[in-house]
This record gives sequence, C-alpha cells and structure tokens, in this order.
Amino acid sequence: MNSVLEGKYAVTMDMYPLQSKDFNRIYPFYDNLKQGRLTTTRCLRCAKVAFPPRVVCPDCLSDTLEWVDLPTRGKVLVVTEEEVGVPLGFETPLIHALIDLDGSLTLFARVINCKMGDLQEGDQVKLVIFSVDPLPVEGKKGAVILQERVFFAFEKAYPQE
Ligand SMILES: [Zn+2]
Repeated sequence: MNSVLEGKYAVTMDMYPLQSKDFNRIYPFYDNLKQGRLTTTRCLRCAKVAFPPRVVCPDCLSDTLEWVDLPTRGKVLVVTEEEVGVPLGFETPLIHALIDLDGSLTLFARVINCKMGDLQEGDQVKLVIFSVDPLPVEGKKGAVILQERVFFAFEKAYPQE
C-alpha cells in the first residue's frame, strides 16, 4: 500500500528539519525563532555554549542543558559568495558569512537580501527569520498535517536601524 504522502512532496530535496516536539529534540530552538529569538544550549555542568544547539554537551557529555539567548546582531568576519553552482532551491547569489555575535559566539550563516559585492568584512548584520514551506506529515488515521516551519539568516544592518 502506498503512503498517503507519495508524490506530494519531494522530501529528499528538503534540507529543513521537522521542527515540532514529536520529531525534533531541539524543538525549543524553532519555537524561540518564531518569537524572534536566536537561542542555543548552555551546559549546566561545564558552561559550554554550543551552536547549533545540542541535546548532549560536546565537551563533557552532560545532558543537563539550558536554553540561552544569543545576540541578534553581529559583525562580518569573512564573506563567501556563490553565483554559479548554487544548490537547487536557493536564489543566486548565495552568500554566507562568518559572523561574530558581539563576542559571545562565532557562527557561519546565510546572508539574504544582499547583492554580490555588497557585503564586506566589518559590516554589521542582523537576524532575519523567514518561513519555510510547511512539510506534510502523516498524523493519526492517515490524516495529513502540515507542519509550519521557520529558519533564520542574517541581512546587512545599518547604524540607524
Ligand atoms: Zn558540558
């Protein structure tokens, strides 16, 4: 018997996870994103702040972690720009940056709403949260439920903002 979802969604091409509690152990990260907060986990035993968030501390293996807020603005350390060979589903140019979040953490993230050559080392960027196509999952008695999803990127920020 075929799945009720067969042919309806190209799941193998989808790089965003299911984000609800039933499917994802770091679901608070996505719940917080929906409220405009960028968060991650801090270990209560050794104080390690890891990004992306974890369910087990990468340093001491403790699973006693708490959620902490990260700054939503940062400074660009390195920029990468792709104009050709961009993966299916992404707009051109595909821009990423290594971003220093006010000294608390350095992360590598996508930068959107930006043209080739516009983003430079030292620029300020701010968090942007956007909707991702909802993913259908099979609920009870074969009912299809659409799971709302979000993800984050950064965009160039200006001093007056
Ligand atoms: Zn730890």
